[in-house]
Amino acid sequence: MSPEIRSQFPILEQTINGKPLVYFDNAATAQKPLAVLDASRAYYTELNSNVHRGVHYLSRKATDAHEHAREVVAAHFNAPHTHELIFTSGTTDGINLAADTLALSGRIKSGDRVLISGLEHHSNIVPWQMLCQQTGAELDVIPVTDSGEWDLSNIDSLITERTKVVALNHVSNALGTINPVETVIPKAKAAGALVLLDGAQSAPHMKVDVQALGCDFYVFSGHKTYAPTGIGALWGKEEILNSLPPWRGGGEMIKEVTFEKTTYNDLPFKYEAGTPNIEGAISLAAALQWMQQVGLDTIANHEHELLVQATAAIQEIEGVKIYGTSEHKAGVLSFGIEGIHHYDLGTLIDNMGIAVRTGHHCCQPLMARFGITGTTRASFAIYNTAEEVDTFIAALKKAAMMLR
Ligand code: PLP
Repeated sequence: MSPEIRSQFPILEQTINGKPLVYFDNAATAQKPLAVLDASRAYYTELNSNVHRGVHYLSRKATDAHEHAREVVAAHFNAPHTHELIFTSGTTDGINLAADTLALSGRIKSGDRVLISGLEHHSNIVPWQMLCQQTGAELDVIPVTDSGEWDLSNIDSLITERTKVVALNHVSNALGTINPVETVIPKAKAAGALVLLDGAQSAPHMKVDVQALGCDFYVFSGHKTYAPTGIGALWGKEEILNSLPPWRGGGEMIKEVTFEKTTYNDLPFKYEAGTPNIEGAISLAAALQWMQQVGLDTIANHEHELLVQATAAIQEIEGVKIYGTSEHKAGVLSFGIEGIHHYDLGTLIDNMGIAVRTGHHCCQPLMARFGITGTTRASFAIYNTAEEVDTFIAALKKAAMMLR
């Protein structure tokens, strides 16, 4: 990683408790480069206006910028059509959009099945439980192996003609496992199920091509791809989105309203009720363009190198157990140290300037699978350095000595 990349993240220049900040909580949210901060500021200093309904100059400029952002985001994921890209507030919002409209559509019936995996974030569990409550469908779960991978030995009995939705984690936020979605998606499609991929952790770390993946929906959060919070997107196949009912009602999503009857707008506006997060969409496009400029492969390779370095070094610490030992991992190192609570460890290394996440990572069923309440998780981004990994390992050694 060149110092030139790091210098684009002013937040990383600060010290915490007199120590240089080491930010290893990237799976929770990533820091923002100047290109994104500049795009956000330029929107408010030059363009701010409401979109789609104004005839005046600024409104037209803001509308053009907002719709250009949609083109950039759709192209980034190789979506066949720009109007299939719905701006949302993030992954959670996108999954709820899909689950709620599927429940409303009447196409899920009592006795149907929804398949998720044991690696899911709560965001990709709870909306499907709610859909099951509304429709009488039932949830099936792909089990997880000791290495934190999907156990696909029974996949053919888990996907049947009753399976209507398969909603899967692309990359695990808790363990880093890159899941073999390319094995499961064709099986789900062959059974006639709709497939949603939770891309919250794949979008920041790898090139994603929704057409090559063959899924029906892909959702992600901008704040993990170097963009602001409060913006993300759901991509869905045109014919499926057109066949589903509208979701939230309000302005923008309508063609015509009378007290007797409302007709709904076309895609993508049908699913974008109310004033959108205009600055967020523009900044999201800037973030994805910034990632393209750096290079998606460069990002993935750099994070992988840090993961390899950290994984080797952490084993020198007595009593360390790594959760998630797959060969196919994004830059996430989740671990426990025998006899030390993850919260105490996280708090102590925070005093040394190091930001990691501790706890269940919104994956309580996964923690239960391993018989633990949580882990300490270090997660890497393009701006992190090998020296920071050394600092982190030294801090862990010191903290482990103090806490034992
Ligand atoms: N799914 C995964 C795998 C995640 O890592 C996260 C966030 O950590 C989410 C869903 C939820 O994302 P958001 O809170 O941005 O909606």
